[in-house]
Amino acid sequence: MNAPAHPIEQLQVELADLDWITDASRIQRLSQDFSWFSPVLKRQLAGKQAQAVARPRSEDEIRRLVALCARLKVPITVRGSGTGNYGQSTPLHGGVVLDMTGYNAFLWSRDGIARAQAGIRLSELEKAARPLGWELRCLPSTWRSATLGGLFGGGFGGIGSINHGPLAARGNVLGIKAITFEEEPRFVELRGSDALQLHHMWGTNGLVLEIELALAPAHEWIEQIVVFDAFDAALEFGDAVARAPGIVKREVCFLSAPIPDHLRQLAPFLPPGCHALIVASAPASEPAFLETVAQFGGTVTFRKTAQEARESNRTILESTWNHTTLHALRVDTTLTYLQVAFSPGCYLSQVRRMNELLAPEVMTHTEFIRNIDGDLICTALQLVRFTTEERLQEIMRIYRDHGVRVNDPHVSIVEDGKHQGTLAAGAIAAKRQFDPMGLLNPGKVRAWMGGVPPG
Ligand SMILES: Cc1cc2nc3c(=O)[nH]c(=O)nc-3n(C[C@H](O)[C@H](O)[C@H](O)COP(=O)(O)OP(=O)(O)OC[C@H]3O[C@@H](n4cnc5c(N)ncnc54)[C@H](O)[C@@H]3O)c2cc1C
Repeated sequence: MNAPAHPIEQLQVELADLDWITDASRIQRLSQDFSWFSPVLKRQLAGKQAQAVARPRSEDEIRRLVALCARLKVPITVRGSGTGNYGQSTPLHGGVVLDMTGYNAFLWSRDGIARAQAGIRLSELEKAARPLGWELRCLPSTWRSATLGGLFGGGFGGIGSINHGPLAARGNVLGIKAITFEEEPRFVELRGSDALQLHHMWGTNGLVLEIELALAPAHEWIEQIVVFDAFDAALEFGDAVARAPGIVKREVCFLSAPIPDHLRQLAPFLPPGCHALIVASAPASEPAFLETVAQFGGTVTFRKTAQEARESNRTILESTWNHTTLHALRVDTTLTYLQVAFSPGCYLSQVRRMNELLAPEVMTHTEFIRNIDGDLICTALQLVRFTTEERLQEIMRIYRDHGVRVNDPHVSIVEDGKHQGTLAAGAIAAKRQFDPMGLLNPGKVRAWMGGVPPG
């Protein structure tokens, strides 16, 4: 009698028609994301990887894989394009990485709403919406490769959040379809706030198959860089553009000196030592935008129309958000970063104060956005000259002591980041409904370290 097959072998034999990735180096690569931005996570996650990777192409393939994994008790870690920053799609306990990029159909769009399969790249979704006169309300600077499911499962927002807040702001996500992790999987549609119980949960409390989003009217965004000699003038200019209701914009990013010196690809437009703003505004708003540049004494060093950006396949928006960090790390490997949100009403004074306290060890990079309540704020992805993990913790404590919210990007536990220590009751209820056996991306949520929380 043959010895019973290892569960992973059994999966590959019983589901031989699925697209399995068996090459060891590809399995290792597909078990990683951009957690290497953090020296802490780099240390913690070293060597963690899946035993196998499957790339399903249809709902039926996903259903059969989930059913068999449930029967064999094999964990699944869902992966989009692996651009997450916290080891979110790195399996801590082996099992299967479920690569969603083959499950990528654009389903429909009408009345400013679009629905697509979770593995669609955001760039493809935007491409499908634009001819209809619409665009995504917010997208990460990784939109070229990142998936819709990855943005929902692990992201926050980004370009466009100046108008529509983060993805989690009510009205941005209209509904999702998810599959339960059971031997007889069920498909469940969740609408509105119920859908958000699976948002930014790193694929730990539900495997999302389809997402329906509200869109924004499309514009032919003009991209510009404006440079300043003085920190305050640059910051106040950014704020003036961000809050001007008549200036239609998609992105306002402030990079204090010496961050611009790290952006080699934009070096011709960034005089050494300058403070810089990267802005995308609508053509009709350009005169008002230029008046504001003159009012604050800035200089426009770069201008590209949407058409030019399309034709060149290059956009300076890929130097904003955490792309700033990526470009800086390419020239200086001793850097890491922070994620904080300054407070409505006093964000400018907080940004100035923290800069005074912590520069040059911490370099100010803020993004102007509307928060979940619609208030204008600065969120920030500061660059930090890394020395020790203890000093990194101390810097975050200094921010908190000054009333600034820190979303620690150096953690691999869901609660310890954006969720500030606790999960919503709805997120826990979703875990019971969608993953009763606790097999989704195990080890990432403290609330279910001892098993799925009882009902
Ligand atoms: C250079 C750089 C810039 C970035 N800029 C931004 C930014 O501007 N804004 C921002 O929000 N983020 C940003 N990020 C983080 C990341 O790129 C985005 O959140 C992106 O949307 C993740 O998509 P992905 O397909 O790569 O997801 P992945 O990294 O593959 O997955 C992210 C998480 O979502 C889960 N997940 C994926 N698909 C599903 C699914 N179908 N169902 C359930 N869970 C799922 C995964 O398990 C994982 O936990 C940046 C990262 C980098 C490296």
